[in-house]
Amino acid sequence: MSSKTYTGACLCSKVKYRIDLPPDQPVPKIILCHCISCKRYTGSAYSSNIIVPQSALTFTSGEPKLFMDDTDAGPKLRRQFCGDCGSPLTSEPNQNPDIIVIKSGTLDDRDLFTEVGAEIYCSRKDKFLDNVNGAHPRMEKGSS
Ligand SMILES: [Zn+2]
Ligand SMILES: [Zn+2]
Repeated sequence: MSSKTYTGACLCSKVKYRIDLPPDQPVPKIILCHCISCKRYTGSAYSSNIIVPQSALTFTSGEPKLFMDDTDAGPKLRRQFCGDCGSPLTSEPNQNPDIIVIKSGTLDDRDLFTEVGAEIYCSRKDKFLDNVNGAHPRMEKGSS
C-alpha cells in the first residue's frame, strides 16, 4: 500500500521535507490562523496551515532551526524555520504532541489543497482582510 506524499521547501531550498499520509487519508484542509504570534512568525496577516501527524513529517534536506515560542498557554510552542532564509516551516501545538502544523505556503504543490477547514483566532483578524474581495487585481511580474 503506497502512501500519499506531499513535499515542500523553504525559500532558499536548503530545508526540504516530505509528508507521508496513508493513501485513504483525505487531502488535509487548510487552517487559517489569525493569532498575533502567527502574524509575527510569518510576517503576514495570518498563517495558512495544514495539520498532519508528527510521524508523517520527514526533513529530507537541511535542518530547520528551532524557536521556542513563549506563549501564555503553558508549555512553549516549538516553531521550526530555515535559519538561512527565514521561512517559517512548522509549529507544534503544545496541547497535542502527536500533530504538527505545516505552513502551507511552503508546500510544493499547493493546487492540491483546495478546501479551508477552519479559521481560528478570528477576533485578531486584520481589518483590511474584509476588503480583499473588493481589491483590484494587479498584474504579477516575475514571481510565479
Ligand atoms: Zn531556507
Ligand atoms: Zn496562530
